[in-house]
Amino acid sequence: MSRPPTGRPRILSGMRPTGRLHLGNLVGALWNWRMLQDDYDCYFMIADYHALMSEYENPAGIAASAREVLIDFIACGLDPARSVLFRQSEVPEHAELHLLLSCYTPVSWLERNPTYKEQMQQLASKDIHNYAFLGYPVLQAADIVIYQANLVPVGEDQLPHLELTREVVRRFNALLGREVLVEPQAKLTSSPRLLGLDRRKMSKSYGNQIDIADEPDTIRKKAMSMITDPLRIKRTDPGHPEDCNVCAYYQTFCPADAEDVAGKCRGAQWGCTDCKRRLGEILVAFLSEPRAKRAELEAHPERLREILDAGAARAQAVARETLDEVKTLVGLGRL
Ligand code: SF4
Repeated sequence: MSRPPTGRPRILSGMRPTGRLHLGNLVGALWNWRMLQDDYDCYFMIADYHALMSEYENPAGIAASAREVLIDFIACGLDPARSVLFRQSEVPEHAELHLLLSCYTPVSWLERNPTYKEQMQQLASKDIHNYAFLGYPVLQAADIVIYQANLVPVGEDQLPHLELTREVVRRFNALLGREVLVEPQAKLTSSPRLLGLDRRKMSKSYGNQIDIADEPDTIRKKAMSMITDPLRIKRTDPGHPEDCNVCAYYQTFCPADAEDVAGKCRGAQWGCTDCKRRLGEILVAFLSEPRAKRAELEAHPERLREILDAGAARAQAVARETLDEVKTLVGLGRL
């Protein structure tokens, strides 16, 4: 069973390349991932097989999105020298293990998966009543166990996703009579809740996000469009910063200013326009470093290819070992 040479616990996580990453991805995942690199053996995947499951009708954008996601990963602090950054489809062992695990996964487990129905609602604009999408938790299980990952970073709300993987692993090991696959544990992470510009969940499908790659003027414009405290109608009305999304952004991106902002808001000492204008400048400054790193990477596209090749080679070496072991166990080893 493959173990990291460093002896550090191994972590696997990933993102679907369905467009550029946004502040919600940064706050909800990338900040944590960046810190995890110090203490864990990290594998971060661009989950393009998963993207195809919902984007199969218009797959042309997946490759371009995968490139953008890689750039955003690195621009936000993921280090290819310390972590394995790779594209899922460049390690075909994921697909093969997915097929093998699907033999051990009852259909009823997939049909009762609570996140399946949730995704159906979230992706209502797409027809995802396909065979692959029903089985996406099996691919997710393969993604994790192919690296024998010990931990998967998740928020409380994502625990059911991981539970299905754990069930598949337990069933596989029990039926085969060997603890061949590692049962991953949740690495619970807490992150600030960042809503979109319109106070709904931040999502590309709602078009209410600020992208990491947005230009300064776009960021300023988006900040000015944010929905504020609905009870503050006139500039002279005292506001309720605790109910205002703009104030939540201050708390996340410039906590030192948050108290001052809240005080000015409650005392009606400034208008929402002033408040949002200042936030726009804070976000522009905050994203200036990722923007500079993005520009540097854009200027050297060959570097991106090198990073993906190196990541795929490192990932594949581990994945192959797990797959060979599983195939032997299920009677598909070399004769
Ligand atoms: S002043 Fe700022 S915190 Fe207060 S309601 Fe307006 S935008 Fe929100």
